[in-house]
Order: sequence, then C-alpha cells, then structure tokens
Amino acid sequence: MGQIRLNQVSKSFGDVRVIPPLDLTIEDGEFTVFVGPSGCGKSTLLRLIAGLEDITSGHIDIDGMDATHVPPAKRGLAMVFQSYALYPHMSVRKNIAFPMKMAGLPADEQKRRIEAAANALNLTDYLDRRPGQLSGGQRQRVAIGRAIVREPSAFLFDEPLSNLDAALRVGMRLEISELHKRLATTMIYVTHDQVEAMTMADKIVVLRAGYIEQVGSPLELYYKPRNEFVAGFIGSPK
Ligand code: ADP
Ligand code: MG
Repeated sequence: MGQIRLNQVSKSFGDVRVIPPLDLTIEDGEFTVFVGPSGCGKSTLLRLIAGLEDITSGHIDIDGMDATHVPPAKRGLAMVFQSYALYPHMSVRKNIAFPMKMAGLPADEQKRRIEAAANALNLTDYLDRRPGQLSGGQRQRVAIGRAIVREPSAFLFDEPLSNLDAALRVGMRLEISELHKRLATTMIYVTHDQVEAMTMADKIVVLRAGYIEQVGSPLELYYKPRNEFVAGFIGSPK
C-alpha cells in the first residue's frame, strides 16, 4: 500500500500553466523529496496528489486504482502542513483524536491510536496541554500525530519544519526519518532546502518551473547531475 503514480498530470490556474504534463512514480514505502526553488510548483504538485486541487489533465493512481476523481478524505493520504493548523482551544489529545472522531472510529480504537502516536512522538506527557502551551517542535509533533492516527497509506509533508529554528529543525528531521523507518510508509516531503533533501530522501525529485529536472537518489544527483541547474541546486562539486 502506498504506491502513487502520476500519468501526464498537468495543472493550470486560468491561462497560467504551473505544471506541464509530467509522469512520476513513487514506490510504496519510499521517502521521496520534492525540492526546488520557491514558486516552482512543489506545493501544487503535492496538493494535486492530495486531491486538494483538481488536475487539469492526466490521471493519478494510488495503489493501482485511479484516484483522479476520488475526494481528498478518501485517498488514504495524510497531509502535514508548515503552519501547524492545530485547534488552539482543544487539548493535544483532542487535536490528535479529531480526524478519528470525524471518521467515526470507536472510542477504544481512538484511545489505542492516540497512545501509540503519543509514544512514537514523545508526547505522552503533553496530551492534556493546549497547543499554546507547547514549543514549536512539540506542536509540529502533534500535527504529525494527527496524521499518524489516520494510518494513511502515505504521508504528504509540505515544508513542515520551515517555521522552526535551525537547531530544532535538525532534530525534527531525524525524528521524521526515524518515523519513516519505523512505519515503513510512503512519505512525500516538500522542501526548498537542499540539505533536508540530501539527508532525508531515498529519492529526490528536482523541480524547476513545474518541470522535473531529474529524479534520483541523493548520491546520483550529487555525482551525476543531469545539468547545471541540478548541479548548482544540489551543490555538486565542479
Ligand atoms: P512552491 O511550493 O514550489 O513554492 P507553488 O506550488 O506554491 O510553488 O506555486 C507554483 C506556482 O503556481 C507559483 O507561480 C504560484 O504563484 C502559482 N499558484 C499556486 N497556487 C495558485 C492558485 N491557487 N492560483 C493561481 N496561481 C497559483
Ligand atoms: Mg510551497
């Protein structure tokens, strides 16, 4: 579970084409990073996969099924945003429970999943606090917890660490990588940060103005960049 395949997927906003038709396959369990300069279409591509934007042409398959017209909540994917988007008036526990409540999961199953997520994310002692009483890193963990309890077939992260200070960012990168190892679930991670891409990815997709410049492992991109843009962006030796 967790293979995502884009077939000739394109996106225009009005007359402006942001994503030209592109093909991309993300394998089950892979940690894929979309990297590229600001405005190159990373978030748009992620939102197309999530179903938060309609695609202009092409189709999207998830686990071998055509998901092009499947609404976001039914795609089995969970999105984690940079703005934590937590409910300030609810406890951490209630924030994490929220998607399960909406899905009508039985209370004991909700409890089991909250405990498992809190354990995985070191949030056990914070379940009764409100988001305002947490640090930035803890809040981001709650946002990840809220995604975990949905047991998605893939996680979609859109620059989840960009609001954190540099030291915290390094720690959270490691935590997300650990989580990926533990869950072995597909993760797509959007960033404009080359270091994040190089240290976290199984596979990097380098985007430029909506085009895929190159797809490969960090080492492939570093040692065999296809062009000057990739070399410059990734920081390959001259
Ligand atoms: P990135 O995440 O790589 O910074 P985005 O996917 O947010 O880039 O944006 C890619 C391009 O699409 C930008 O030029 C942006 O202005 C444009 N764009 C994104 N969303 C919309 C929208 N809802 N309406 C019009 N243009 C948009
Ligand atoms: Mg973006």
